[in-house]
Amino acid sequence: MKKILVTGAMGQIGSELVSTLREHYGTSNVIGSDLWQKDEEEGPFEIVDVTDEKAIYDAAKKHNVDTIMHLAALLSAKAEAVPQIAWDLNMGGLMNALEVARELELQFFTPSSIGAFGPATPKKNTPQETVMRPTTMYGVNKVAGELLCDYYFYRYGVDTRGVRYPGLISYVTPPGGGTTDYAVEIYYEAVKSKKYTSYIAAETYMDMMYMPDALNSIIKLLEADPDKLVHRNAYNISAISAAPEDFAKAIRKHIPEFELTYNVDPVRQKIAESWPDNLDSSAAEQEWGFKAEYDIDRMTAEMLPKLRTK
Ligand code: NAD
Repeated sequence: MKKILVTGAMGQIGSELVSTLREHYGTSNVIGSDLWQKDEEEGPFEIVDVTDEKAIYDAAKKHNVDTIMHLAALLSAKAEAVPQIAWDLNMGGLMNALEVARELELQFFTPSSIGAFGPATPKKNTPQETVMRPTTMYGVNKVAGELLCDYYFYRYGVDTRGVRYPGLISYVTPPGGGTTDYAVEIYYEAVKSKKYTSYIAAETYMDMMYMPDALNSIIKLLEADPDKLVHRNAYNISAISAAPEDFAKAIRKHIPEFELTYNVDPVRQKIAESWPDNLDSSAAEQEWGFKAEYDIDRMTAEMLPKLRTK
């Protein structure tokens, strides 16, 4: 049975990942951690600032964990506003968590992102290994992070694993300041006011994924046979390649009067245009059996009723 410490556990992914892991491995075997904690938190939790290596070490040692899932980070749009702070948190926090994994011989998972790619990357069916050269601080952090995780595997034998997540869509916890956040907001606004103004322009395609697929992929990769993992850090995974009008079309099947207008934010639009349209996930499929279950219509049919009852 695994025992896992999750950093950044209060965020969009962490808040759902912790409950999914607890269902899978047992409540007492999953220790959430973040800078803050919800009042109703059930199960073990530690306040851990990932810029403090000792705090991560103490929490890992106290609970005798065998795995760290490192989620604490500053996301793309927020990182562009404070790039130096983003470097300190995204790189410093990762290095600290990797050091603890090395010292305590722990398995290690951290997500990379489609943001690791840049304008010179082939946009369609983006290969697992290709030109990266991102132009955002977040992307620079993600590429450097992938390489650092590879380094800890080759140099120290730390069992590092990761995926390049697309924009993640969920009805549970709102997103934390990424470029793909519109794809969550559009559902909230569809339910609330039957209209949405997109800060991303029409025909701007990006990869997206429904949260249940994202969570299942983490568990699958965590449990995969290490001998089969060639591309450890980090695997392309892909589910839904969509532009704002594709979400509107899917929503109109349930809310015919839904209106989509545009008021483009140049900062986030520029980031979006530097990212791929859709990734080739064949390495993840072959090496550990990645498979997405949700397309845009199935996701929309689940999101809208869930948001209505929130
Ligand atoms: P989020 O912004 O929703 O949550 C991040 C969490 O980290 C927050 O709860 C925050 O309190 C915490 N945090 C911030 N500074 C911290 C510190 N110093 N110490 C400890 N905790 C701190 O982010 P998320 O969407 O859950 O993303 C988690 C990971 O997944 C990140 O590495 C992100 O880059 C990656 N990712 C997310 C997406 C997405 O669409 N959500 C897509 C690709 C990759």
